[in-house]
Amino acid sequence: MTVSANYDAIAKCNKCGFCHVACPIFRATGHESGVARGRLALLRGIIENRVQWNEEMEDPLFTCLGCGACTTNCFGAVPTADLVLEARAEYLDKVGKKPAHRLLFEHLLPYPKRLHAAAKAVALGKNSGASKVANALGLLRIFGRDLPKAEGIVEKLPMSSFRGTIKPGVYPGKGKDLRVGYFVGCGVDVIQVTAGKASFEALKETSKSVTVLENCCCGLPPWSYGDVDNTRKLAAKNMKIFSENDLDVVVTDCSSCASFLKKYAKIFKDDTALDPAGQKNMPKFQDMVEFLSGKSDTKEGDRESQDVGSYYDPHSAGLGEQVASRGENSPVIITYHDPCHAVRGQGVKSESREILKAMKGVEFREMPEADWCCGGAGSYALTHYDLSQKVLDRKIKNLKKTEADILVTSCPACMIQLSYGIRRHGLNTKVFHISEIVEHAKDTAEV
Ligand code: SF4
Ligand code: SF4
Repeated sequence: MTVSANYDAIAKCNKCGFCHVACPIFRATGHESGVARGRLALLRGIIENRVQWNEEMEDPLFTCLGCGACTTNCFGAVPTADLVLEARAEYLDKVGKKPAHRLLFEHLLPYPKRLHAAAKAVALGKNSGASKVANALGLLRIFGRDLPKAEGIVEKLPMSSFRGTIKPGVYPGKGKDLRVGYFVGCGVDVIQVTAGKASFEALKETSKSVTVLENCCCGLPPWSYGDVDNTRKLAAKNMKIFSENDLDVVVTDCSSCASFLKKYAKIFKDDTALDPAGQKNMPKFQDMVEFLSGKSDTKEGDRESQDVGSYYDPHSAGLGEQVASRGENSPVIITYHDPCHAVRGQGVKSESREILKAMKGVEFREMPEADWCCGGAGSYALTHYDLSQKVLDRKIKNLKKTEADILVTSCPACMIQLSYGIRRHGLNTKVFHISEIVEHAKDTAEV
């Protein structure tokens, strides 16, 4: 797909400027080239031969968070994030691919075992205070000039990956009917391992079986960098795994993965080899938040019950003091951050609040601008550190207004970014994945 092929969509921008107020990057910089209207004007300039492909296009294309907030504020619903993303592919073709991305997209992300080994090497270096080891290995240099500033974003790395502890395979659950595949995203696998364990337990609670899949990366990172070939290779590997396992639903606790897996059907619909509609045993995909809320979207079939059911029982669970140090009779204050890929990528918003609001001993407080991007955006914080921190500062300012003990979300990249902002601003708020909170609630109820 070239930029020219998107001319009609790009030309739909009437230059009204309504997108300005919603764009975290424009609000942080005030630069027209950092907002949908400006980015689209440059793309139109390229098609009309008034602007040339050169390195000056890098910032307007690569500073976009892909958060989609502009589109929700645009009467014409111009899909700027998608248009920018497709333009990145042409930029990399014409101006040049950063060679280091190859290491990540071609040699690490398709192979979970290599990714685990790389993560372990980085963890060894980082946890011993010698993070230069990771640099010396060249593993993180792919993220470019901002890496030295960004090294503190991840505080500590687990020495063992999720799938190093809970091996891929089929595990019996307590439920009667549903055969669930657990898609383990890279972030959960190598960084947010505790969230992965909580999700695994939650999945077993209502499923007949849980298959911890041997999936590789969903493909979103190369897709975000305009690398269609490597996206295709990763998706092909995953679809083969889905086909080989007869599953009712594939659930993931990374909202970014969930959003991207749901996009396979659209992205590959004209690809005869990959079109999910033509694949055997293709399951439905679900965000963990949807699964926990019991809002079933499993595949239609001949099973008597397709209902996932609600794992979380609000009447028996109480959060108590396990997760925050409140006084005996004071409720724990919880707030929620909507990952972009949940709220705009999948339309998943109310489910998380329903779960949290129903918990005993909890006071849910809505955070202002809860659905604004936190600036994490995958590896954005590593490639555009300063900009990412400006976006994060706004988020933390809003978090402070809630006085929350706990901030809950459903995307590992957001968890890392938010935790970093909280540390940098000296707050005491704890960050949890929604699966962890549900597990805490269950544990408390069982005591
Ligand atoms: S809101 Fe939409 S139409 Fe208006 S300037 Fe922004 S992208 Fe263009
Ligand atoms: S996708 Fe987000 S960062 Fe990109 S132009 Fe739209 S609002 Fe701004």
